[in-house]
Amino acid sequence: MFQLCVCGEPLKCNEAPTPEPAGTEVLLKVLAAGVCHSDLHIADGWFDLGGGKRLSLAERGMKLPVTLGHENIGKVVAIGPDAKGVQIGARMLAHPWIGCSTCGACRRGEENLCRAMKSLGVFSNGGYADYMIVPHPRYLFEIGDLPPERAAPLACSGVTTFGALKKVPTLATEPTVIVGAGGLGLMCLDLHQKMGGHSAIIIDVDPAKREAAREGGAAHVVDGGASDAAQQIVDLTQGGAWAVIDLVGSSQSARVGYDSLIKGGKYIIVGLYGGDLTVSLPPIPMRALTIQGSYVGSIPEMAELMDLVRRTGPPHVPVATRPLDDVNAVMEQLRAGRVIGRVVLTP
Ligand SMILES: [Zn+2]
Ligand SMILES: [Zn+2]
Repeated sequence: MFQLCVCGEPLKCNEAPTPEPAGTEVLLKVLAAGVCHSDLHIADGWFDLGGGKRLSLAERGMKLPVTLGHENIGKVVAIGPDAKGVQIGARMLAHPWIGCSTCGACRRGEENLCRAMKSLGVFSNGGYADYMIVPHPRYLFEIGDLPPERAAPLACSGVTTFGALKKVPTLATEPTVIVGAGGLGLMCLDLHQKMGGHSAIIIDVDPAKREAAREGGAAHVVDGGASDAAQQIVDLTQGGAWAVIDLVGSSQSARVGYDSLIKGGKYIIVGLYGGDLTVSLPPIPMRALTIQGSYVGSIPEMAELMDLVRRTGPPHVPVATRPLDDVNAVMEQLRAGRVIGRVVLTP
């Protein structure tokens, strides 16, 4: 298993005996584990809050060493005595956004908003390993005929963009602007279509990623680095965007996204690149703007997403597979911005 032992250093390959599932736990043999951009932040141990400030994951309860990997598909190989409703041999997606299960947020089905999260691959051991423990069968979703490497990204990239798209009231009637055409952006674009979205305008600073977005079905693509990027969106949407989903979340992307809103528009921020945004206050009420954060997804959203994928097929996001042993090299590739779509590790 590849563990983060010291923040800022490469993951280390540690050996440990295969865990035995106790209580409601389920043991999976990992079949596929997607490498996500947030693995880089987790490995660094901090997020950039802008203005030289940092948010430390250690202060948020991350304890080392921890096995990373939160986009996991596995085969059930052992079941704890109290784990009901799972069959040995079933191929499952492990929903990683696990809460305390007792607080108000958890009880109303929003474990992703729990204040004491135990997310797999962040706060508890994840899937960059041969085996992993999932604490309860309620976090497991059958993948049916889906190839594991195509299903893995649904656990983070999929449910995160699905959760953001669900927050767009004008999805079917107006263009949706999506900032970022990396793995998350292409997933968002595909799910937007599967959910019956009107049309999508994709913004990215990288021409190769804009081309991938065009091939993925974007109605328009805009260079996010252009000085008039916000104005281009205002023109393309005939007056401004009703909804912008910002999958980058940098000072620059936030400026472009927020500045391109129409009266009544909604800026939904998902990406964790880091930075800050200064906004004038009177236009927020006068133009009835919404700034909303969206963090991963809930268990009901994951269930809904799996239903959607069963009906409409796996997302058309380019997926490359690499052996688990290459995890550090893949993370460096991702850091350098050289990944189109998703890289999924297979043990
Ligand atoms: Zn992720
Ligand atoms: Zn909770």
